[in-house]
Amino acid sequence: MPVKPTVTVLAGPTAVGKGTVSTYIRDHYPQVWLSVSATTRAARPGEVDGVHYFFVSDDQFDSMVSDNDLLEWAVVHNSHRYGTPRQKVEEALAQGRSVLLEIDLQGAREIKRTLPTAQFVFLAPPSWDEMVARLVGRGTETPEQQQRRLETAKVELAAQPEFDHTVINDSVERAAAELVELMGLPAQQRD
Ligand code: 5GP
Repeated sequence: MPVKPTVTVLAGPTAVGKGTVSTYIRDHYPQVWLSVSATTRAARPGEVDGVHYFFVSDDQFDSMVSDNDLLEWAVVHNSHRYGTPRQKVEEALAQGRSVLLEIDLQGAREIKRTLPTAQFVFLAPPSWDEMVARLVGRGTETPEQQQRRLETAKVELAAQPEFDHTVINDSVERAAAELVELMGLPAQQRD
């Protein structure tokens, strides 16, 4: 049976590893059409414009917002703006592709309002303790900063019931395979 092209939204708490899972999918599952977001943040070493993000200026982002070029957008971590280019997603769907959006919780909620037929997947940590270890682990933050991040994580974890499915990020390969399966796509990987 041919797969009906749909939009799947992957969201979850900060530091749960969404970026790692979506990178794995981009590298191993060409059957998934992964949306490339626009962002006003600067590229990190190794990031390529048009592959990891479209790196745009504040003015360019303003124009995208006023021209209604974004399916959703949000200010993430109180700093930079990130958004999903609308036209590219619509073109991919028109070509029969299954689309994956890896976005933050605010973006996921906006998509729920504007595209209620999308499927919503929550990426969760294996346990609260593991999440604490990841957030605190680097040892680069002050105890106050760590406390703030943990409070944020608690609020973000509480969003889980808003989602259709939960995938536990116990291993990147396994979580990616489960997500591809939830998208109704064949799970063959490219090496
Ligand atoms: P980073 O700057 O580390 O690549 O990403 C920071 C956060 O931005 C991640 O939580 C990621 O899910 C979120 N993000 C990336 N692209 C988008 C987007 O297009 N829209 C929204 N709302 N969030 C995004």
